[in-house]
Amino acid sequence: MIYNDFHGIKLSALGFGAMRLPVIDGDDTRPDPDQVAQMVDYALAHGVNYFDTAWGYHGGHSEEVLGAALARHPRASFYLASKFPGYDVSNFGKHEAIFEEQLKRAQVDHFDFYLLHNVCELNIDRYLDDATFGTVSYFLAQRAAGRIKHLGFSVHGNFDTFLRFMNAYGDQMEFCQVQLNYEDWDFQKAKDKVAYLNERGLGIVVMEPLRGGNLVKFTDDERRALDALHPGRSAVDWAFRYVQSTPGVITTLSGMSSLDQLKENVEIFSNDEPLSPEERAALEKIGYAKAHAKGVPCTACHYCTSHCPLELDIPRLLELYNEQLSKESGNFIAAMALNSMPEGKRPSACIACGSCEVVCPQQIDIPDTLAEFAEMMGE
Ligand code: SF4
Ligand code: SF4
Repeated sequence: MIYNDFHGIKLSALGFGAMRLPVIDGDDTRPDPDQVAQMVDYALAHGVNYFDTAWGYHGGHSEEVLGAALARHPRASFYLASKFPGYDVSNFGKHEAIFEEQLKRAQVDHFDFYLLHNVCELNIDRYLDDATFGTVSYFLAQRAAGRIKHLGFSVHGNFDTFLRFMNAYGDQMEFCQVQLNYEDWDFQKAKDKVAYLNERGLGIVVMEPLRGGNLVKFTDDERRALDALHPGRSAVDWAFRYVQSTPGVITTLSGMSSLDQLKENVEIFSNDEPLSPEERAALEKIGYAKAHAKGVPCTACHYCTSHCPLELDIPRLLELYNEQLSKESGNFIAAMALNSMPEGKRPSACIACGSCEVVCPQQIDIPDTLAEFAEMMGE
């Protein structure tokens, strides 16, 4: 196993993600305790020491089942991470009850890593209004009391939201969990977040290294291009090596669904084979093409925005449209971002006046695209 230093401890470069555990009878709220125990034993025996769960995973049962599996091992043999469910704004103000329940569920007296889960457009104002909600100061106090060893946050939001949070709390945060893979390097501006986090000295925990399974196979053309650089390497191997060789990454989470998958991941993370700059560039080129294969080629130049009588944030809406198209199922990012906007700023507000498209250098049919997006999102 490869290890990375983080504040004097050695973290396994592969993290055990407990958001897609094997379940009983196809019921997502029933993670299988026997299979999970077997997988946890294998992971620990092969050097994995970072385990990631959250309040909401598997309908609240991930913390419980993972905690029970880990409780069979010495507490000092693993680092356990969980998260405050701020993605549901009704949880603001309930932080103490939630945190106490999480410790009970996971059978621990402290979390080694604790995150404010999914800082985004929907909840940023509540995180920043600490005088009213007290969420961040509560978790800082828990860290001071030793019930949290390392405090951080995860982010799916746009770069501006990320910056607002960092401007307020960056000095108190130790790590950040971001969606990072060779497709999102450019597409979700992961490279900007990585550069900024490195500059501020925060460790980076990677989520979605395979983009929810979208990066597990190559087309014939992609395979040919990559075989010329490193013959025979699997698509999963390429994707993991990409994040492994990104500066500042302390661990990469893989949502463990089976023992076979865990074994494959452990094998990849047993050898430190960082990609060369040429290999990274080749993957980023493929990622860029994948991200833009569907959707519209908006470059966010903003020429159009001053022409919109409704002052719609057209590039942002098109970015979300592309995001929605880039995943075949299970995408929540666009829905979440749209829900945080007033109705008059959503795609359905467009009156199809056409003022924007005449100035678009990419000749995007903006009104039709927004209409399609509104329909797609059931607006
Ligand atoms: S077509 Fe829609 S997005 Fe474009 S300027 Fe008119 S209202 Fe705004
Ligand atoms: S003018 Fe076209 S390319 Fe530029 S931001 Fe607007 S839609 Fe995107």
